[in-house]
Amino acid sequence: MSGSDLEAGRAAAVRRIVSDLHAELVRNRLVAWTAGNVSGRIPGADLFVIKPSGVSYDELTPETMVVCDLDGNLVEGEHRPSSDTAAHAYVYRAMPEVGGVVHTHSTYASAWAARGEAIPCVLTAMADEFGGEIPVGPFALIGDDSIGQGIVATLSGHRSPAVLMRSHGVFTIGADPRAAVKAAVMCEDVARTVHVARQLGEPLPIAPDDVDRLYDRYQNVYGQRSPR
Ligand SMILES: [Zn+2]
Repeated sequence: MSGSDLEAGRAAAVRRIVSDLHAELVRNRLVAWTAGNVSGRIPGADLFVIKPSGVSYDELTPETMVVCDLDGNLVEGEHRPSSDTAAHAYVYRAMPEVGGVVHTHSTYASAWAARGEAIPCVLTAMADEFGGEIPVGPFALIGDDSIGQGIVATLSGHRSPAVLMRSHGVFTIGADPRAAVKAAVMCEDVARTVHVARQLGEPLPIAPDDVDRLYDRYQNVYGQRSPR
């Protein structure tokens, strides 16, 4: 198999993975209409696969996915890339360890974003997955690198794979696209639970030492033998 065949094979595999993962956004009720998107880096290439702009979730297939370079330029595909492509591209450029990015306007998490409030770490599941609070990123308009810059500035050096972009919605990152989708699902789940807890009173904080222990155990022991 030649190098270009190998690259084409990898691109086809990522197209399928990214296409299939969009169904998880729908199944987990994280998206309305055509909002929301998943992308995945193509291993060994400065390219990523992302959802086409404005195509219904029912019509997404591996073939309708588009391939972009790390500047967000369309490289391969019949549709325009998602309008959030510049933000995904910025993250891939700035964070080489990131292999997948997800964006949603999921209801409860976006409600926290609308108030510009970080979700406090008051559940062991949050300590496990996020290692602390889910932080808020800056208000940023679509159209240039400002959303990407806000995501990277907020998540760099932070344990959380999720950021609530103020007055907007959620961006999550992962070692691969599936991990980023998992973070988006978990982010919405804890946003909902902590919101409900707030209606009943003041949620109890978890001691920072316990947050550290939970995070370390979950990240290093739990599920070690299967990809997260
Ligand atoms: Zn958005």
